[in-house]
Amino acid sequence: MMKPYECTQCGSTDFEDINLKKVRCVYCGSLFHLLKNEPTLSINDGANVVFGKTANVEVRGDIQIEKGARVDILGKVTVLKGKKQQEFSLKLIKG
Ligand SMILES: [Zn+2]
Repeated sequence: MMKPYECTQCGSTDFEDINLKKVRCVYCGSLFHLLKNEPTLSINDGANVVFGKTANVEVRGDIQIEKGARVDILGKVTVLKGKKQQEFSLKLIKG
C-alpha cells in the first residue's frame, strides 16, 4: 500500500502494515516504528533564507527562527497547525 512517508533505506513508499504502529517496506523488508509528529521548521543562527515573490510555502507545525537568522518573506508562507495535517516519520527497527 502506498504511504505518505518513505523508506529510509531504499526510498520506497510501498509498505505493508504489521499493526497500527509498525510497517514493513515491501521492497527491502526493513521494519519501522511509525511515529506521528508535527515537525518544526527551524531556521538556525547565521542562516539567510529568502522566500521569493513567487513562493507559496506551506509549513506544517511551527516555524522556529533563531536569533541571528535572516529571513525575508516576499511570497506566501502558510503555517498549518492542528492534527489534520499530520506528518509521519519512520524509526528503523531492523534492516
Ligand atoms: Zn525499503
